[in-house]
Amino acid sequence: MERWREAEGKTLHDPLFHLCPPLAFHQPSDGFHEVATRDEAERSIWVPGSIIVGAGPSGLAVAACLEAKGVPSMILERSNCIASLWQLKTYDRLRLHLPKRFCQLPLAPFPACFPTYPTKQQFVAYLEAYARRFHIRPCFNQTVVSAEYDGRVKLWRVRAVRAGNDKAAEYVSRWLVVATGENAEAAVPDIDGMSIFKGPIIHTSSYKSGDEFQGKRVLVIGCGNSGMEVCLDLCNHSVRPRIVVRESVHILPREMLGRSTFGLCMWLLKWLPMRTVDRILLLVSRVMLGDTQRYGLRRPRLGPLELKSLSGKTPVLDVGALAKIKSGDIKVCPAVKRLTGHGAEFVDGRSEDFDAIILATGYKSNVASWLKEREFFSDKDGFPRKVFPDSWKGEQGLYAVGFTRQGLMGTSVDAKRIAHDIKQCWMAEPKQRMLPSQT
Ligand SMILES: Cc1cc2nc3c(=O)[nH]c(=O)nc-3n(C[C@H](O)[C@H](O)[C@H](O)COP(=O)(O)OP(=O)(O)OC[C@H]3O[C@@H](n4cnc5c(N)ncnc54)[C@H](O)[C@@H]3O)c2cc1C
Repeated sequence: MERWREAEGKTLHDPLFHLCPPLAFHQPSDGFHEVATRDEAERSIWVPGSIIVGAGPSGLAVAACLEAKGVPSMILERSNCIASLWQLKTYDRLRLHLPKRFCQLPLAPFPACFPTYPTKQQFVAYLEAYARRFHIRPCFNQTVVSAEYDGRVKLWRVRAVRAGNDKAAEYVSRWLVVATGENAEAAVPDIDGMSIFKGPIIHTSSYKSGDEFQGKRVLVIGCGNSGMEVCLDLCNHSVRPRIVVRESVHILPREMLGRSTFGLCMWLLKWLPMRTVDRILLLVSRVMLGDTQRYGLRRPRLGPLELKSLSGKTPVLDVGALAKIKSGDIKVCPAVKRLTGHGAEFVDGRSEDFDAIILATGYKSNVASWLKEREFFSDKDGFPRKVFPDSWKGEQGLYAVGFTRQGLMGTSVDAKRIAHDIKQCWMAEPKQRMLPSQT
């Protein structure tokens, strides 16, 4: 109720009203103040706390940390569920790639009964429980199409459209948290001949299981964690896929020396410089996996951690695909030169027939397409220009969560910092909360 009064006070004194005089108010059930303007196509909604764009783990983490500090927030999410990447765009056999203790969100560890690497179903159940615990109810089916800071009123104006509806709503707030993720859109390369290939070409975000590919000749393009795991899944469904390895790649065992490789790295980095840790990783990998170059998997010049820190390229944590490559169940191919009607020609001059192609070519940020801001976020890749740990805060109440290239561990660090920062402003600006600045 208190939040209502604040919202109402703000709305009635809001200079935005002079820009767009209201025709009617009503109080929608989600607790935010909605205003129908003269132009019925555009509705303005005042959000008392922060607007968060995206209801993935990062958006939920910020909302939970704010809730714990008594600061309200509202999440706008384009899909119809939380964690849509995990629920709608990942394959059935997916488990967390990293041990659960490195993937938990702030204020709520994973249940002790969960395995070290929870399944995606367990991870989603954890996130659902997390949202319930912190009373997070995102506004679903709201795709943010633009967000812009209005310097006249010192507020963010965020426009969102509902799927299948051309009417936009405008949400207005003092703070904007970008939580749309590093994986917002599938990265689809432009391969010569794509339009003439007769079989299906799908991205891994649409791949569910090898079931649907049984009896087919499948080419997987891309050799990151997803490409390798999709190949393994295909093998487990009696498909013998080919995998395109265009560049060099680091493959590490998921566990080494009795602990998770990721955990071991974190521990070693406390004592040793990155390059020394890289040398240890490569030595142990060599002993455990052998010389991967023999199978067409050339290692990069830089070590796995140095490469990750300089380029963001994640090493593959092997969960069984390498054994299938060694046994010949998965065959490694060089880069594709062009696709033909029934197959692919490779840069080494070989060609082969395929029935289906799976693009394991990664994802990209979509921030540059909707955020009208270029100081903090780069328009080249839609990531903050500053790198972790300085990538979380921009100017004028703009924040980024989950753009650290450090997975969910980076998300937790960001979320706690953002909530702390907003809380400071929230406490320092009680008057503005009731009566926004008239400047
Ligand atoms: C196959 C796979 C496995 C992974 N495994 C791990 C792992 O084990 N450990 C780890 O730490 N990380 C892992 N990751 C990285 C993973 O991306 C993050 O862990 C996590 O999903 C990031 O959360 P996020 O909320 O930042 O982004 P996302 O989960 O991508 O959520 C972003 C949300 O924003 C919404 N959105 C996007 N654009 C808009 C818009 N314009 N308007 C409204 N809503 C919008 C999306 O619909 C989505 O729901 C994995 C990634 C993949 C693809």
